Amino acid sequence: MAYIIAEPCIGTKDTACVDACPVDCIHPRRDEQNFASEEMLYIDPEQCIDCGACVPVCPVSAIFAESDLPAQWQEYAERNRAYYVKEQTNAK
Ligand code: SF4
Repeated sequence: MAYIIAEPCIGTKDTACVDACPVDCIHPRRDEQNFASEEMLYIDPEQCIDCGACVPVCPVSAIFAESDLPAQWQEYAERNRAYYVKEQTNAK
């Protein structure tokens, strides 16, 4: 299981979660090249340790445990995962 960032992040990209995450698994960070072009932030499901530290710091309550992800935002589990698949492909 991993935590998931959902729709409220779109257009918000607050990044308080990035600073709260102990394993740096939320991207893009503000210092990353694609920060401006991505509409939201994503959690790497392979790296997330399910600590929950990102949840209370999000000003728009965009982050959920996968098991608590609201039904209308189920697609965001795949969107978070897909971001990291794309990043790996770009790195090759
Ligand atoms: Fe990072 Fe913990 Fe949030 Fe996972 S649950 S993204 S490890 S702060």
